[in-house]
Amino acid sequence: MKDRRRVELRDLPSVDAVLKTDLAATLTERFGHEATANAIRALLTEIRAAWNSAHSTPPTKEQLAHRAHTDLERESRSRMRPVFNLTGTIIHTNLGRALLAEPAIEAAIQAMREAVALEFDVTAGRRGERDDHVRDLLCELTGAEHATIVNNNAAAVLLTLNTLAGGREAIVSRGELIEIGGAFRMPDIMQRAGARLIEVGTTNRTHPKDYKSALTPQSGVILKVHTSNYRILGFTTEVQTRELAAIARGANVPLLHDLGSGVLIDLTRYGLQREPTVREAVAHGADVVTFSGDKLLGGPQAGFIVGKRSVIEAINRNPMKRALRVDKIRLAAIEATLKLYRNPERLAQCLPTLQSLARTQSDIAAQARRILPAVHAAVGGGFTVDICQCQSQIGSGAMPLDTVPSAGLCIRSKGRDSELDSLAAKLRAVEKPIIGRIEDHSLILDFRCLTNESEFLAMLSSLKHGNAISTTSAPNSPTGKAP
Ligand SMILES: *Cc1c(COP(=O)(O)O)cnc(C)c1O
Repeated sequence: MKDRRRVELRDLPSVDAVLKTDLAATLTERFGHEATANAIRALLTEIRAAWNSAHSTPPTKEQLAHRAHTDLERESRSRMRPVFNLTGTIIHTNLGRALLAEPAIEAAIQAMREAVALEFDVTAGRRGERDDHVRDLLCELTGAEHATIVNNNAAAVLLTLNTLAGGREAIVSRGELIEIGGAFRMPDIMQRAGARLIEVGTTNRTHPKDYKSALTPQSGVILKVHTSNYRILGFTTEVQTRELAAIARGANVPLLHDLGSGVLIDLTRYGLQREPTVREAVAHGADVVTFSGDKLLGGPQAGFIVGKRSVIEAINRNPMKRALRVDKIRLAAIEATLKLYRNPERLAQCLPTLQSLARTQSDIAAQARRILPAVHAAVGGGFTVDICQCQSQIGSGAMPLDTVPSAGLCIRSKGRDSELDSLAAKLRAVEKPIIGRIEDHSLILDFRCLTNESEFLAMLSSLKHGNAISTTSAPNSPTGKAP
């Protein structure tokens, strides 16, 4: 037995023999000698490890080259593949948050392709500032005196705290010590910013006197945090920005307002609850306001810091700013996105985030009705497929209690729940993965964010014909719960 096994393993073609096949020659041309040889070597190792002489016949060198081809193709595909976001979460952090508007995409492409006047004043012919391009726009849209931009809002908060309260104290209400996804915890950020956290009030109630009695000569900043991903309801009190700003001014301590998502326009017209806009936060007297670029604003990842000139200048002088700055590609996209806000009436037509948010339930339900037969045919007889009403959520921690009525398809297994799980896995395994959400023994496909219906139908038919490529690169959170 032992001898036979050895003989058969010896019959496996060598790496060199496989490399000499015609197919391997084309693979070497396309993927390089090293990668091709490695792919073949990995295959042979795998075959040896799984060898069972009773059942195996050694593959031919052509068969091995063929399998190496499949592996190399899979490896060369981007790991960050486009997916269908049918989770019902519009700004899904795990799926890349906001989709950019076309003008922003074009601006980014141009900045990638050509030399741009990033830090160059073309009129004066001398060095300029990279923030110049969007500073005036940000001031115009928020009413602030001055503005600067960093990598994301987490960076904006870190940099501002470090500038204003490094080695000093930062006062914040116990009701606002937030944790948002991805290990952003306010107390930890404070510590890394070198600020000593002074908690005031209680979880549900904080009064003006709590802030006042915490003020000392060591106070560097009063921080107000928009509790964007939770609500404290019931017997609650918080000190509003206007009043807090007066307290801060009286003590000559700056007030920092972290708005989180930060909206530039009133979103109630899209059926959402009223959220304070950045302009209001500035008008209510915060010295600095920070907010995200890729949440409800609908742009690329960025952290905006707007406010009093003296404070923003101090932030810009902080050496940390250099480590947190944004690149030309994003700056170009940010500028183009912000420009769209000059015409709020047309915004919902050009900004994909708002476009998705603004879709009516009846429009989405009509789409679900159109798609139903194709889904039914694709999933096969083991499942029921029905039109359903559901709720989309904003996502990325913005407005957690605010959902918008939506529609989609509800798929249930006629047998075991595990069959629903494997269907969800199959849908994720197609060329452009289809990501729904599992809820209450059903797989829900919420069509709010489905813009390319024909492409979706093509994917479904590839599932039906069983030529889905099996991979496992889909995000492991199909639940729609985004940080
Ligand atoms: C989302 C959020 C942040 C972090 O913003 P990013 O742009 O994701 O870094 C900070 N503070 C609040 C209140 C938030 O909601």
